[in-house]
Parts: sequence; structure tokens; C-alpha cells
Amino acid sequence: MHANPYIVGNWKMNGTRAMLAEARAIDRAAARYPAVQVALAPPFTLIHAMADEVSAIGVGGQDCHAQPKGAHTGDISAAMLLDCGADFVIVGHSERRKDHGESDAEIKAKAEAALAAGLGVIVCVGETLEQRDAGKAEKVVGAQVDGSLPSAEAIAELAPGKVSVAYEPVWAIGTGRVAEVADVIAMHAAIRLRIEAAYGERADGVRILYGGSVNAENASGLLEAEGVGGALVGGASLTAESFVAIIAAAGAERD
Ligand code: PEP
Repeated sequence: MHANPYIVGNWKMNGTRAMLAEARAIDRAAARYPAVQVALAPPFTLIHAMADEVSAIGVGGQDCHAQPKGAHTGDISAAMLLDCGADFVIVGHSERRKDHGESDAEIKAKAEAALAAGLGVIVCVGETLEQRDAGKAEKVVGAQVDGSLPSAEAIAELAPGKVSVAYEPVWAIGTGRVAEVADVIAMHAAIRLRIEAAYGERADGVRILYGGSVNAENASGLLEAEGVGGALVGGASLTAESFVAIIAAAGAERD
């Protein structure tokens, strides 16, 4: 298990102010596990209020624009996220890649913009079921890593931990179908090689998270798997009850 696992909840398009009570409960529980880095990525509309109300957890966005400002109706820049209290942003989630046709190059530009603004970044990659069944999972995900990660120059001056990669097989997101631990280990090892090729020894500071139907029951097995540095959690991060169980699994034997 990673010494400082990173457990991140992605609320997607869920949550109004009433849900801040869940964030407060998650924050209180996270304070009991100092070795676990915990964060939530609520919808844009809740970032400011959530950041004001929590102290033990990070708060982040689910996307940002690559430009700092300008004529981009409906978009939010990395500097705006920072300004309203965010400390990180998720980029390249498969739902963004699919719903908004985001390319690796666009995701890389967003990741670099986020780092330049002072945010941490989680870059998501993952293959579809069709690609896995065709034996192309490593090739597809390897190309996504190569194409979407910020450049070595963009990370040269950063503290370790500012960049994470989330391996999220598309077929495991929101489906209840979890990847086999052996496949997770193999994919994380393949991703690690690509990160090392890109960043050299600075690759050590990059955690690789697993995402895809992580819940209280399967979290321990996944988090103990070789090469897994944490989890990106969708559905099970929406309530304190289910998310805290995952944080506790990450914190077991550590605190
Ligand atoms: C996600 O959206 O990043 C995710 C992993 O969702 P879920 O945990 O619901 O599969």
C-alpha cells in the first residue's frame, strides 16, 4: 500500500448546498487519518462554499479551460478555480473525453494551465470495454498517458504529489463492475513505465490512482495492490457513510 494514499471523491453533476453536510462529515472523519490525503471535487457551484467549510480535505474542480480568461462561454479557468478555493483539478475524465470530445492534446493543455495557475492536477486515462476485449488496453492507455500528461518542463519545479494519474477503465465507471486486481496491477505498472520515461526520477512523485466502482467492500483489495497510490471515487463519494469507509480502508495500518 502507498505510504500516503490519495483518496479523491468526484461528485460529478451531483450536489446542491444541502450536500455540504456530507462534505463536513467527510472532513471531520478525514482528520482522523492524517496519512491519507483526502479530497472532493464537487460541481463548480459548490467549490467556494465547500472550501470555506472544510480544513482537513482538499477541494477541486472537475475540469478547467486551458486559457486563463477570454471568450469561452460556460467555461472556467484554472485561475478561477484557485480564486474560489480549489487546490486541484481533475482533467480528462472519460465523461469529458466522450461528452465533450476532448483530445489528449487539449487535456495536456488543461493540465499545464492548471499547474501554471498553482493547482494540483489529476489526469484521467482509461480504455473502453471494446478496446480491452481487443487486447488494446495497454496501448490505448499508454498513448493517453503520453499525450495528456503535462510536459517534463511543466513539472520541473513542482513539489512531489502535484500531478497524479487516475487509471479508470471506462467500463468500470459507474457500472459496479470492478477491474480484476491483477489487471489493475498490470495497467498501473505499464502506466508507471510511461511516466518514468516522461519524467525520469521525478516520476516518483506521481501517484497512480485507480478509479471505477470503488466502494467500501472492494477498497482494501484495490488499495493494497502493487502500484496503486489511491482511488478516484464517483458514486461512493456522495455520502460520508460510504466515502469514509474507503478513507478508513486507506488509513488502516497507517495511522
Ligand atoms: C469516476 O467517476 O471517476 C468514477 C470512478 O465513478 P464510480 O466510482 O462511480 O465508478
